Amino acid sequence: MTRKPVEVAKRRHTRQVMVGKVPVGGGAPISVQSMTTTKTADVEGTLAQIYALAAAGVDIVRCTCNQIEAAEGLAQIVPRSPVPIVADIHFHYKMALAALEAGVAALRLNPGNLRKPNEIKLVAQEAKDRSVPIRIGVNAGSLHPELYEKYNGATPEALVESAMRELELFGEVGFDQVAISVKASNVPLMIESYRLLSETTDHPLHLGVTEAGPPPGGLIKSTAGIATLLAEGIGDTIRYSLTADPVEEAKAGRQLLEALGLRERKGLDLIACPSCGRTEIDVIKVASEAQAALEELHLPIQVAVMGCVVNGPGEAREADLGIAAGRHKGHLFIKGEIVAVVPEDEMVEALVREAQKIAEEGIEA
Ligand code: SF4
Repeated sequence: MTRKPVEVAKRRHTRQVMVGKVPVGGGAPISVQSMTTTKTADVEGTLAQIYALAAAGVDIVRCTCNQIEAAEGLAQIVPRSPVPIVADIHFHYKMALAALEAGVAALRLNPGNLRKPNEIKLVAQEAKDRSVPIRIGVNAGSLHPELYEKYNGATPEALVESAMRELELFGEVGFDQVAISVKASNVPLMIESYRLLSETTDHPLHLGVTEAGPPPGGLIKSTAGIATLLAEGIGDTIRYSLTADPVEEAKAGRQLLEALGLRERKGLDLIACPSCGRTEIDVIKVASEAQAALEELHLPIQVAVMGCVVNGPGEAREADLGIAAGRHKGHLFIKGEIVAVVPEDEMVEALVREAQKIAEEGIEA
């Protein structure tokens, strides 16, 4: 139950591309992405979701650009968005051109769905002229049929070759502002594909387990894939693909990076013991109520709720605020010092009150 600093492997070197003002790769902070679920033509609805995502910690948002109305929506969304917008393109190269015209910060092209070399090169040429990067977004579920046949399925080699073929086409027009992803819903396949990709190219990598499903399973699959690679130093930007409100994706992405020490904490870090037969308070109730109340404060604060003296005082002392419980009451710690004894039914209130004081006085106070 003692906390140890997570030792994340040295990050692999990649070149850098700029997605609007957000650097991706080349040692830049790992960015969090998500994708809107609204119709992009619904400008106000999409912007509301983008703002909610930005508040939850995303750095970059992707919107589908599947028809001309969506491109028209993008032209209005881009100038009002607080974060760079990426247009997601599948079957129609003209939608890529229209998205560029709308002023998007980047494109995502799926090589399995947009297959004609002359059209791909036309898009790359236009992106090059506008200094807009492209993500080559390979997906195991929509692999180019030729590669599927050649490798007898969606293998790591097939996914990586798909990305490399697209990169070669871009190279023919001298375009190299490229990030790459090789997503799969199968976690071992995803991990192996990115490992191979990172040995093959120094372009920045966008990590994700595609179609991971609803939480909690989707969160676990995504974390298994993304965290494994991050701990090997692989990955420059991440997305959780959850069957849920995209704000959940944003929160999860942000929390993962914070947990690995790869991004500064923006919100609450609640340390709480799982409780066991030793405790004489309802740890689960106190911790869940404290989490709900403290999250509302949007403070980068660490709070410990511990069920007994086994690890309680140690954890509570290390956090900004902490409770180390005894029999139906507990010691309240502030910045390592015991300041009061609080009854169980007043613990949440005391934590919120002290967190508010820290907020007023500054987090270092
Ligand atoms: Fe650990 Fe005490 Fe919590 Fe049990 S009650 S899990 S021993 S801190």
